[in-house]
Amino acid sequence: MMNLLRNNIDDLSLYRVEIRVRTPLILSGEPLGRIWATNINFIPGSTFRGALLSYMYNHSHLSNRVVSEAFSPTVYFQPLLPVYMDKECRHADPLIYKCKICGETVFYRPPLDDYISFPSECNNGHYGTLKSVGGALIVDKDVVNVIRYVYIESVGINKVTETSEKGMLYSYSAIAPNTRFKGLVLDRGGLIQEYIDNYGYPSTIYLGRGISRGFGWCELNINQIDVGDYINNRGSQIHSYLEKSNYLVLRGKSPLVFMDSKGFTPKPKLVVKGLEEHIPFKYVDKNYLLVRGLYHLRGFGANNLPKAHISAVKPGSIFFYKIKSHDKLDDLVDHLVELELLGLPPYNHIGLNYLEVLVWC
Ligand SMILES: [Zn+2]
Repeated sequence: MMNLLRNNIDDLSLYRVEIRVRTPLILSGEPLGRIWATNINFIPGSTFRGALLSYMYNHSHLSNRVVSEAFSPTVYFQPLLPVYMDKECRHADPLIYKCKICGETVFYRPPLDDYISFPSECNNGHYGTLKSVGGALIVDKDVVNVIRYVYIESVGINKVTETSEKGMLYSYSAIAPNTRFKGLVLDRGGLIQEYIDNYGYPSTIYLGRGISRGFGWCELNINQIDVGDYINNRGSQIHSYLEKSNYLVLRGKSPLVFMDSKGFTPKPKLVVKGLEEHIPFKYVDKNYLLVRGLYHLRGFGANNLPKAHISAVKPGSIFFYKIKSHDKLDDLVDHLVELELLGLPPYNHIGLNYLEVLVWC
């Protein structure tokens, strides 16, 4: 079986990471004047990666191996998604709507044929009042309001006089304490295992901005899960779904970055191994539906290197494929499990380009 994961299973370790926020967590890109607004509803893989690798760099003899992660990554960090009632949230796709009048959520799941239209009314008959909630957090078939924010005023401190600096008053919005997040980390080179063997599981991590002022303190729980079991279980779930379906729908679990000959592009052409012979489904002239708005990513440059500025498509975007034949379903399922676990290069090690099979119902 030509499968990257199965062929190298002895070298793989899979970890489920859980984080509980203890002090307000500031996740923001650039400030707007004196305001730092947390405007994302998950912890990017790059944020957790940076924090964990820094911690290991500072608290172990593995600093050389940590540095080499910058040049040849072996650890793959998926985004950490909020937890609601013990369930991991996902991002809504653009075909999930909310009625502006009655507030009803509409999971629009039309049969996948050659052409389908968009919905025009909610189940209570309100016409033209549906608004896509693509990008919002969902659990099962509910849109959930799981992230609470706190607002903080903070003064700048002069490092010499150690007193407040005139004119430096900042406002932050931050994710409130007790918010929980979960995600997966796949280690292909044993770095995390070696850390754990020597130093045990780290139980605390500092994330986001303002760490020196006490923000972003989080409880950390890392549990190893059997990667073989995980692959087999997920494979049989996908298999039993796809054997009854002529279509495959993939949903972005993370921001997605696409490249063409000129560099980064927000216009996706999703080339997935094993899917070459399954044609993209012509859905309203496109084989994809993107969550509106772009996700801007900065700041994974090492030390003094200029930081890359990448525009990515937001999580929750969906891609349609028509399965031409079920003859090679086993191979397709293997590729899909690999896609879910490893993401697509480039930048899958920093939490970009993860997709998962969406059950269309
Ligand atoms: Zn309505």
